[in-house]
Amino acid sequence: MRQTQKVMLAFSEATTSELNEILEHRFFKEKKSPKSKSKTSLSKQQSTAPMSAIKQENSGTKNIYEIIKQMRLERNAPVDLVGPQKCFDKDKDIETQRFQILTSLMLSPQTKDDVTSKCANRLLEYTMNDIANMDEPELIKLIYEVNFNVTKAKRIKDLAQLAIYKGMPKTFEETIKIKGVGEKIALLYMQVAFQRVEGIPIDVNMIRICNRIPILKEKSPTKLRKFLESQFEHKEWGEINETLVGFGQQICLPKPKCDQCKLKDICEYYKLQNTSD
Ligand code: SF4
Repeated sequence: MRQTQKVMLAFSEATTSELNEILEHRFFKEKKSPKSKSKTSLSKQQSTAPMSAIKQENSGTKNIYEIIKQMRLERNAPVDLVGPQKCFDKDKDIETQRFQILTSLMLSPQTKDDVTSKCANRLLEYTMNDIANMDEPELIKLIYEVNFNVTKAKRIKDLAQLAIYKGMPKTFEETIKIKGVGEKIALLYMQVAFQRVEGIPIDVNMIRICNRIPILKEKSPTKLRKFLESQFEHKEWGEINETLVGFGQQICLPKPKCDQCKLKDICEYYKLQNTSD
């Protein structure tokens, strides 16, 4: 009997409490000690971590952001055209759309947007049931271009099975419990699938940019998120990820195109690179 069939049989024969235990073990991350903040709501984290504890290194964050926004108006970046949050079929029912959005986001870590988009679009041809019942090697073949495709295939198949038996997650707290989902993905999922902006999703491009200029010298995505959230009004939070990610894809790349950048005059990284000994 195939593994999926075994799981389906286990589901069909289980009582409600047994089913919850199976789901908990198979699809969700292990529970951490009460001290851990990874699964608590962002609002709780914010209330227990005063902003005064976060060092503000640049009071001109909003001015810098406005200059980046101007640069972003000049041309589209991959995130604008093929960002993972854009790979879903608006003609499908809402539950399917939510599944497609979260699947696409789960494919995206450590992978370029155009590659993620190619694989996510391939999966749009398959229903949630198809993916829940698909053999893992077949699923890996469909997403082979993304990095860590073996692990991601397993997580996506698990998500399909979870969605069939429990429905797609509807809150940040439910979403971040799922294996393969971190803070950035859960926040983007809430934003795209539910139009609820619960925080600023932080990605590797944003960390690089913020440390170079610097907006804030900080490698922790959570600390950077809290800092940025303190600098902008809530109504602005929803656009910040896409604006900064696009800037990181177009100009402030790992090998930056500083000659095209309007922040040269204030950028610490640029000054360091262009200071003669
Ligand atoms: S000057 Fe160079 S390093 Fe600094 S923000 Fe612009 S592109 Fe990035």
